[in-house]
Amino acid sequence: SWGSFTDKATYDWSSEEEEPDGRARPIQVLVVKDDHTFELDEAALSRILLAEEVHNREVVAISVAGAFRKGKSFLMDFMLRYMYSQASEEWLGESEEPLTGFSWRGGSERETTGIQIWSEVFLVDKPDGRKVAVLLMDTQGTFDSQSTLRDSATVFALSTMISSMQVYNISQNVQEDDLQHLQLFTEYGRLAMEETFLKPFQSMIFLVRDWSFPYEFGYGQEGGMKFLEKRLKISENQHEELQNVRKHIHSCFTNISCFLMPHPGLKVATNPNFDGRLKEIDREFINNLQILVPWLLSPKNLDVKEINGSNITCRGLLEYFKAYIKIYQG
Ligand code: GDP
Ligand code: MG
Repeated sequence: SWGSFTDKATYDWSSEEEEPDGRARPIQVLVVKDDHTFELDEAALSRILLAEEVHNREVVAISVAGAFRKGKSFLMDFMLRYMYSQASEEWLGESEEPLTGFSWRGGSERETTGIQIWSEVFLVDKPDGRKVAVLLMDTQGTFDSQSTLRDSATVFALSTMISSMQVYNISQNVQEDDLQHLQLFTEYGRLAMEETFLKPFQSMIFLVRDWSFPYEFGYGQEGGMKFLEKRLKISENQHEELQNVRKHIHSCFTNISCFLMPHPGLKVATNPNFDGRLKEIDREFINNLQILVPWLLSPKNLDVKEINGSNITCRGLLEYFKAYIKIYQG
């Protein structure tokens, strides 16, 4: 239960944005409405980012982005478990403990194109002695029509602009259209930003779910890097368009990496009553989860958000968020 999470926790509570029963939860801070306009819940965002304990802290903003129904919330719930039990080797939880967090409303979750932020900002001590604030974001969209593609691209652009690490959650493989989408939304992002000699964005991680060719490229980060190198390679005999997509992606991010995740097993993928308990998840998936999550979130790997070479605080991030939104609202 959630109660046992809080007993084990070694973090500081820092935000007021909670349910009446005291639980932290995902807060929809950005919505794309049916008429394609954007709505920022500035009040909610301010409550989270201007909380007394965090507003002057340098911020690490981690976004997981991708289409609906591809296991983002499922992953983020494990990321939350890790954040809530930093000090512990046992962060993964009990074998029969249901998952809660981003997916806490289960199947009734509305598919809203936009950005959700976990209401609690975590304070983490980095090995170098700095205390940083860690923000978790869920960015989702659809790509099934021209107009939804445009909405999603804008939302992805925004989340890429305000995050220090963008985890691009994709299913089965890195397809050419995944790269094209990435090009589109980084292009949207770059247009809105000041021209500098620095690369506009920080880390991009391609997270491939249900990877099914481990005999070609092994699960995890090393196999992922080899696979991605091959996918992003630019060669003379490639069509110019394919070359451009690749050049563009290389020019946008300071770090690009990739992680190949195995399939979690049929209970996770198909059982409507599955509640996230470890007991019903394939061992191979759990093993890789135990590598992936600390790789993304361990204190030494948390990079503070930089804009034009300066470290950004929670308060600063709020200002950038508002300014960027204005650009897209036109
Ligand atoms: P989201 O819409 O991207 O947040 O996706 P959810 O996390 O809500 O997951 C959608 C469905 O996919 C749920 O039924 C999950 O149990 C299932 N799921 C979660 N992770 C994976 C995965 O890695 N592979 C597959 N095939 N299904 C998954
Ligand atoms: Mg979700």
